[in-house]
Amino acid sequence: MSARRTAATRSFQHVLIPRIVEMSEADNWERAKHEWAYTDYDHVKEYDGRACLCEYHPITHLHTITNRLNSLEAIIGSCCIKQFMGLADSELRSIAYVRGNPNKALNVSAIELAYSQGWINNWERNFCLDTQRKRNLSSRQQEKRKQINELVLAGLAPVMLTEGELNAEKEMVRAGK
Ligand SMILES: [Zn+2]
Repeated sequence: MSARRTAATRSFQHVLIPRIVEMSEADNWERAKHEWAYTDYDHVKEYDGRACLCEYHPITHLHTITNRLNSLEAIIGSCCIKQFMGLADSELRSIAYVRGNPNKALNVSAIELAYSQGWINNWERNFCLDTQRKRNLSSRQQEKRKQINELVLAGLAPVMLTEGELNAEKEMVRAGK
């Protein structure tokens, strides 16, 4: 683990989590996190002074999360979004695999993640679960799988920034301002 990533994890735990709990109806993180949905994404070309809820800045990838119960909103940077959404490495790997080959099936936890985030509907979720282990799909099923994979990739695109993209963003911010 790099020093920078360790620091980011600390800010997530000690700054972001208490603030999210503060803004939630529940009074503990395990319950509070389920009140929040991923609702918007914006990428600003020039740093406009905003910081992640964890205080990390500059951020130019702005992920908006909204509390379903009290409608409060918060902005989170790339530093915290994967952890906030509870994205496990296995889900990220599965999704990266499908990005490399859209004819392949997502794993079960990636399918459930996409459904819980509203990127795919219930019918699409069931289709994925039913056909997940099948190798020989009809051409119509294959088309459907590919289409659903695209929905999942589109949903996750802003969250899936690579380390290289993040570094490029930081360089740009440092060079410009
Ligand atoms: Zn953060």
